[in-house]
Formats: sequence, C-alpha cells, structure tokens
Amino acid sequence: MYKIPILIFASLLLILSCKSVNKKSEKSVKEMNENPLLVKWDTPFGVPPFDKIKSEDYLPALEKAIEIHNKEISKILNNKEIPNYKNTIEALELSGSDLKKVTGVFFAIEAANTDDVLKETSKIIGPKLTAHFDEIQLNSDLFNRIREVYHQKKLLNLSNEEKHLLSETYKNYVTAGVNVEGVAKERLKSINKRLAALSIKFGTNLLDETNSFELYVSDKKDLGNLSESLVALAADEAKKRGHDNGWSFTLQRPSINPFLETSPNREMREKLFQGYALRGNNDNDKDNKAIVSEMASLRAEKAKLLGYNTWADKVLVNRMASKPNKVYDLMDKLWPSALAVAKKDRDTFAQMMKDDGVEGEFRGSDWRYYVAKVRAKRYNFNEDETRPYFEFNNVRDGAFNLANKLFGLSFKRLNNIPTWHKDQQVFEVLEGDKHIGIIYMDFFARESKRGGAWMNEMRMQSNVNGNYVTPIVTNNFNFPAPSGDNPSLLSFGEAQTVFHEFGHGLHGLLSNVKYASLSGTNVPRDFVEFPSQVMENWMSEPEVLATYAKHYKTGKVIPTELINKMNEANSFDVGFRTVEYMAATYLDLNWHTLTNNQLLDVNKFEKEAMDKIGLIDEILPRYRSTYYSHIFSGGYSAGYYSYLWSEVLDADTFNEFKKTGDIFNPELAKKYRDMLAAGGSKTGMQLYKDFLGREPRVEPLLIKKGFLEQ
Ligand SMILES: [Zn+2]
Repeated sequence: MYKIPILIFASLLLILSCKSVNKKSEKSVKEMNENPLLVKWDTPFGVPPFDKIKSEDYLPALEKAIEIHNKEISKILNNKEIPNYKNTIEALELSGSDLKKVTGVFFAIEAANTDDVLKETSKIIGPKLTAHFDEIQLNSDLFNRIREVYHQKKLLNLSNEEKHLLSETYKNYVTAGVNVEGVAKERLKSINKRLAALSIKFGTNLLDETNSFELYVSDKKDLGNLSESLVALAADEAKKRGHDNGWSFTLQRPSINPFLETSPNREMREKLFQGYALRGNNDNDKDNKAIVSEMASLRAEKAKLLGYNTWADKVLVNRMASKPNKVYDLMDKLWPSALAVAKKDRDTFAQMMKDDGVEGEFRGSDWRYYVAKVRAKRYNFNEDETRPYFEFNNVRDGAFNLANKLFGLSFKRLNNIPTWHKDQQVFEVLEGDKHIGIIYMDFFARESKRGGAWMNEMRMQSNVNGNYVTPIVTNNFNFPAPSGDNPSLLSFGEAQTVFHEFGHGLHGLLSNVKYASLSGTNVPRDFVEFPSQVMENWMSEPEVLATYAKHYKTGKVIPTELINKMNEANSFDVGFRTVEYMAATYLDLNWHTLTNNQLLDVNKFEKEAMDKIGLIDEILPRYRSTYYSHIFSGGYSAGYYSYLWSEVLDADTFNEFKKTGDIFNPELAKKYRDMLAAGGSKTGMQLYKDFLGREPRVEPLLIKKGFLEQ
C-alpha cells in the first residue's frame, strides 16, 4: 500500500536534512553562464537537455539558483511601495523560478538514475535547501508584508485562485512559526534542530537494527516450498554473511514475508517475526524508545508554541480532514468490522493448526503460514498464471487507452528527445492537435534507481501573464527488464501500479491553473492518492481488461474465470491487512494527540493504545513505535491515515461512475477532469464538493472491503 510519496521535493528535504561539508564551488561567471541547467533550454517542448547536462553541473546550478532566489526575496522586501497582492504575494510565488527549474530535474534524476556525484550533491544541497526555506518562512519582515495584504483581502478584487494563494501563503508562514516571538522563537528554533537530529538518529538506528539481524537456516526442509528464485537469493545472502553454505533471511520485507509464508519450522518463524517486531526495542545502543518519547514530547511542545492544542491539530490544518476527530470518526467506522473479520480468520487458522496436530497457542508468527495454506487450498491460485496477460507495453497502452476514453487524450511516442537513460520512453500528450504535456516513463529496475514506483513533476503547469507553461511528468517503476526472448511480464499488482502512477501523471498533466504552487499534485497529502488509486478501479473492469490484458503470444484476452479466481484470492485476508494498517494509524494519532509534553514509557503507551482499540495479540500494528519510520523519520506524522482517506474518495468516485451504468460516463468524466484541472487551487473538500456536489461518503469503501452488505 505504501507508495513513495510523489511530493518528492518535500520528502527529500526531510530525508536529507543531515550535516555535510560545504564544498564551495569556485566556478567563474563565464562557466556559470554556460551551465546547461541555467541557460534557456533550446529543446523540443523545452524539455531538459539531458544530453548536455553532466552530473557535476547540478551542484553549482543549485547554489547559483539559491543565490538568485535570495536576491529576488530581497527585492520584494526592499520594495518601497505599499505591499499589495502583486508586489508581495504574486512576486513571492514567481520568485525562485530558476531554483524550481533545477530542483525539478535534480530530484527526478537523483531518484531514478543516480550516481556518486548526484548522491554527494544531494547530501550537500539537502541541508542548504532546508536552511534556505526556513530563512524565508521565518522572516518577520516578509511576513509583515504578507499580513498587510492578507488583512485587506476583502477589499481586493481577487479571483478565487488568487484568494486561495493569498490564504495558503499566509497560513504556511503562520504554521511555520513566523508569529512566534522572543524567547519562544529561540525555543522553536532549538526544537526544530533537535527534532531534525533525533529523526536522523531514529533512521540510522533502524537501518542498523534491520541490517544486523540474521536468521540462518542450514536444513533445506525448513524452507518449505519457497520458490527457486527466493531460495537462490537466500543462498546469496548466506554467502555474503560469510557462511559456506545454507540460507540466510533478513528483516527486509521481500525476505521475511516469503519465509513466514512457507517455512514449516514454527520456532524459526517466531525468531524471525520477533526479530522484526523488536527492532529499536532491544535496550542496546540502537534503541529508539528514548528518541520516540522525546520526539512526541517536543512535537507536543512545538504545537503549543504555535498555538495549537496538539501536534495532530497543527498538521491537519493543511489537510482535507482538517481535525483529528474527523480522522477518528472515519477510523471508528471501519475498525469494528475489520477487527471482527480478522478475529474470525484467527479462529479458523487456530483450528487448522490444531487439526495439523501442532501443539501450543496460535501466534502472530503463524498467521502468514496459514493464510498461504488457505489461499492455495481454497482458491488454487498462482500469480504466474496471469503474468502472460500483462506484458508491460500492453499494460501501458491500456492506461493510455483509458485516458483516451475518459478524457480524449492521445499519446505520441517521441524518439528523438534527450533522456536520462536509454530505457526511458517519452510521449507527447495531445488532445486532438493541442499539446497538453510530456510524460517520461521509466519501467525497469537498475542499480541507479531507488526502489518502488513513483511519479514526479519535472515542470509544473502554470499560466501567469499569458505565459502558459505545459507540464512535464515522469512515471518510474522497478519491473524486471526483458531479457533475450523473454518479455517483461507483470504481475496483476504491478499492472495496477502502472495505472496508479499514471493516475498521478494525469493529475499533473491535466492541470489548468494560474500558479505553479497550486497546480497538479500540489494538493493536501490526504487527497493526493485519490486520483491515482481511483485508476486501479478501472483497470480491473472487464471492459478495460479487454483492451489490454492480452496474452503476449496468442493475443487472447484474459479469461474471466482467471480474473474471478484472482480477485477472490486477493480479497481474502482483507481483515488482517486492514487491521494491521489501521492499528498503526491509531498509534500514530495517539502519539500526536498528546496535550502535554511529559516523557512517556514507549512500550506502556503503545500497549495501552492498542488495548484501547481491542487489538488482538496475534496481529501487530504494521509499524510499532520503535520502527515507525513514516512518523518518526519520514514526514508522515499524524498523516499515516492519508491512504485510507484517499481510499474513501476513490471508492466513492468509482461507485458514482458505476451507478450511471457507464464506467466512462462522459458527463461525470468531464466533472472529474475539471477537478483534476483545478490542481490545488481550492481546498481538498471544496475540490470534492465541486466535483460531486456533496461531501465524500464512506459506504462504498465499506462495501468494497466486504464490511457492509450492499
Ligand atoms: Zn501514489
């Protein structure tokens, strides 16, 4: 469920806020004028000239762009005219255009095709960017100008988008703490510094704890029916760890899950399971308990300094949910049904274990083993049966075809355009003859690419003073590359990922607003997964499958029985998946709705939080506090609920299409497109209300998950 946040800029700023040596670049003015990142790009559609840019060009270009931005900010500050919308709010929005241009390309390539120079550059530039933006957002003189304009807002003749930009700008400065004064401001700065340091320490402790654990297996029968490729991987791991033979398993998900599913050795499963569950909680020098406790305390204190009741209240100001109780309301609607399903499954598994003649209590480490058993026995489903129907080019065309049916878009392959890697496919997106934007698609795994799948926007759409800038987006995946005569065949889940990221891509491409900072996927985090997740609904509809899920050899469309079998097998265990996710969400909210800053006993706090919701012993929250990197080192504090929130929106939306009897209903598709076009120029709730004329309903999601009768 977790996808790399597409808000890559913000996330990198968080990840990279580490100290590093500042290597002053001594480039001459002449050289700087020739830096291919800073000159005007004389390329088709103004795409980045990847054929001319060298990795060494990024750091000087970024440093220069920061310098230019600072000059632009000074100009705004030194403007002798009375502050008005144009000379302050719009001027701020338009400032830093060089920096946006360079960071847009840098963060895209650094994630998808990195090298030592780019890695070093990100280490150096990360803290510099954090400091640069802090400097701007905590500048009281700048804020005085913003406030002056903000207080005249009723008198100004502004469009809705301009009003939104004004209030967002004001709000961002306030939540950053620009209003805090004197001793409190000093305290705020020191809390920020301490939180950044703690969060880095949390991450490195977790990495060390994860990497140091090993489960060594010497007897092949303990591997059960583990697939050949995974057996080979485990053998490689054992060699790497200095064993002459045997197999080693680690705490990485791709290693731990298959072992828990297949190994008949209960004690080994338990050892691996506990190794995972106790990371950062072993009372050694990598223990994260004190860090968690201090971070929660500092966040509670910071929230108070900024005038909020709790940290969650502060975070949610900028989200669609707006208040913690709205999130709790949603959670409480799903929780009892999910828990009931999980309890029923637990009882079934416990009985199966007994029937197998295994003694002792059914434990969390037994869960996946019995799920796999039931899946094989009850559904007789094997993922490999479906792969031939999901050749990656076919899947891509299926996504394109869907965009054509819904929005009338077409995609033209561009072969003579600079790319960052030869595997990249580039397409011009058109509506009739009209140029909409460019999408770069990069499908295959390689060492220079980080894991997972994600989208980013290299150039945001905008339209100021008659200068219409069209968007450039990327989609990135980690599929196996074709080799020899073997094409790249995707699993159903991977095919779903193509549609998902393409959904983010469309959000960027269809944007039609005035300002870049309000365009495309610049929406609240609990809204951002909606346009991507909703695509996953279409992709599995028979009408859509018929357009692309064709056998790569015979061209035959995937049989309906196979699809049904797969859907049934996949929907099984929904109780467990929902419960482990939601338990982690409750835990996140519990840590971030503390109203005072006393230091707490982490294990005791977590147990009480889980007892309160009645979590059963056989299921752990997906993340326990000491390895909950999303919220203690990843920028998701008080935000892990976002996936569920977006799921409500996508299920509700697709249900509306279904209700019309036409999943491509043109009228509804037009309204949906209008919502995408509005980007972040309205609040999340306003976007939704303008789309469907009402607030989102949770019932379609409950039905989809099987928690509510239709
Ligand atoms: Zn996503």
